[in-house]
Amino acid sequence: MIFSILSSCKQGEKSSAPAEDFKFFSEQFADLKILRYQVPDFDSLDLNQKKLLFYLSKAAIAGRDIIYSQNGEYNLAIRRTLENIVENYKGDRNSKDFQDFMVYTKRVWFSNGIYHHYGSEKFLPAFPKEYFTELVKAAELSKLPLREGQNVDAFLAELLPVMFDPTVLPKKVSQDPSSDMIKASAVNFYKDVTEAEAVKFYEAMKNPKDEQPLSYGLNSKLVKQNGKLVELVYKTDGLYGPAIKEIVKWLEKAQTVAENDLQKDYIAKLISYYNTGDLKTWDDYNIAWLKDTLSRVDFVNGFIENYEDPLSIKATWEAIVNFKDLKATKRTEIISENAQWFEDHSPIDPRFRKEKVKGVTAKVITAVQLGGDNAPATAIGVNLPNADWIRKEHGSKSVTLENITYAYDQAAQGNGFLEEFSLDQSEIDLIEKYGFMTDNLHTDLHECLGHGSGQLLPGVSSEALKNYQSTLEEARADLFALYYLADPKMVELGLIPTVEAAHAEYLKYIRNGLMTQLTRIELGKNIEEAHMRNRQLIAKWCYEKGQKDNVIEKVTKDGKTYFRINDYDKLRMLFGELLKEVQRLKSEGDYAAGKALVENYAVKVDPELHKEVKERFAKLNLAPYSGFINPEFVAEEKDGEITNVKITYPNDFTEQMMKYSKEFSFLPTYN
Ligand code: ZN
Repeated sequence: MIFSILSSCKQGEKSSAPAEDFKFFSEQFADLKILRYQVPDFDSLDLNQKKLLFYLSKAAIAGRDIIYSQNGEYNLAIRRTLENIVENYKGDRNSKDFQDFMVYTKRVWFSNGIYHHYGSEKFLPAFPKEYFTELVKAAELSKLPLREGQNVDAFLAELLPVMFDPTVLPKKVSQDPSSDMIKASAVNFYKDVTEAEAVKFYEAMKNPKDEQPLSYGLNSKLVKQNGKLVELVYKTDGLYGPAIKEIVKWLEKAQTVAENDLQKDYIAKLISYYNTGDLKTWDDYNIAWLKDTLSRVDFVNGFIENYEDPLSIKATWEAIVNFKDLKATKRTEIISENAQWFEDHSPIDPRFRKEKVKGVTAKVITAVQLGGDNAPATAIGVNLPNADWIRKEHGSKSVTLENITYAYDQAAQGNGFLEEFSLDQSEIDLIEKYGFMTDNLHTDLHECLGHGSGQLLPGVSSEALKNYQSTLEEARADLFALYYLADPKMVELGLIPTVEAAHAEYLKYIRNGLMTQLTRIELGKNIEEAHMRNRQLIAKWCYEKGQKDNVIEKVTKDGKTYFRINDYDKLRMLFGELLKEVQRLKSEGDYAAGKALVENYAVKVDPELHKEVKERFAKLNLAPYSGFINPEFVAEEKDGEITNVKITYPNDFTEQMMKYSKEFSFLPTYN
């Protein structure tokens, strides 16, 4: 499961930490911006650890073609055609059409295909079809990704509708239950298979009595051959084999410099899984991996998240390479060590408290390479593995990518967002001083403790709240974090310098929940996404319940709306009160109360405030989505031995994408 930047909404808030001369912002186009991130403390690692990061980073990029292919069967053909033109075009590169062509190409790189990475709809080129035809016809024939025996006209006839016709394969993933969701989705997990056939095929594999079920279908494409359903498994001698072989090659090198036997063992298990596609080996690997809490270097590499499959069965390929941030991890360790204290003092009915809290291992990491579905846009937190039975029996590993949140934060400096939505300088000062610190702490408390706190009454199903479950669960975790953030215990544990620091997060949270998150909602629409619903629920409920004491005040200044917090202590008590109620309805499975809470506070938007906020945001000209250029590693060698690994920070998105495509393109055009 991932925790995305959009769900924690750090957009536009500042920190006071210095950024030296590093440029975090690189460029902006369409609704996207390209950022860079730093890898602090890399030089403090030993040569072995650096080598390990170097090899794992290669493995993280080696599978890049896979995600293009998974995101749609024409993506590699389109990407290779675009890149051919980028490299060889001899005409006017300053013309408007060519500039539009470059924006389209960069969007394809950003989304790993022709569908928006977040909204999943197909984006269309701003240049005319005729211009593209001209570019392709001027290209060198031998360099175009033609099918065998195909001429340019046939090639264009196949590609043009996919790129330019909004009705052809319009969506990557369709969740519309009234249609055949597989037919309506362009994602390349199924071929000539109906939704009903796929559902039946995988239902037949399940045994409800199996307490350790495999993740059936996770790593394969389901196709029909001679009228029969067949799985094409992703493995070295199967589908995506040429890319998987390269991943394995680098994992084998990584294995030789593993930090300890446990790490060596799970890398071996991962290699064996890639070679066989065996899902039992995948589970064994995950169990071994999550038990490694000692190694400094760590990584994710595999077919992991199933968000892109309308049936939530098949996983996209992704990679993150990282090492532990020792200093920041002390923070999550202090929190985990005191988990029982927090549980015992939680402002909920004692019947709903956990008698014995089982800790989640949590650490703060420094990312050094992002790959596959996790690049260029990335999650800021990850909690794995995903298999429910493994989480229950063996636990899970939760990580926060703090050099990434730091980059977001730094890139937002001076973009005007904070100034636009702050009532006065004292609010700006408070957030500048403590905002970054308490934002991260909020995430830690939410992830390590919030979700794991409390218990259900015997006999209550965890699904009792049905479609309101995820909003209320996110609310519960957020409230737990908010309530404790301003607790004197936090100062006592050394996690914040003063209780006032927590007020920065209170201010940001309320402002976001009541106002600034509306920038991402289209006018006339309601709030759908669970994290966004939860934030409005909490902010609006506290605003309303605190009205008699004027806890949160709506202020109008120069025709603009602001929300000022007049009483932080009372606000904290309101967080505690709402936590008590949300825990009660979860523990008792009180669907009616949960429904009322969400429907009354979380869904509907004040249309006038919405319009105002959108207008204020538009004037700032900020792109709502960000992605990253990866650092690059250079290995210095002597007599065939690596003697040092250096890190560099490229600043040109196009250059990096072209380089990756040249050096890491292993798959055939159609898969
Ligand atoms: Zn959460």
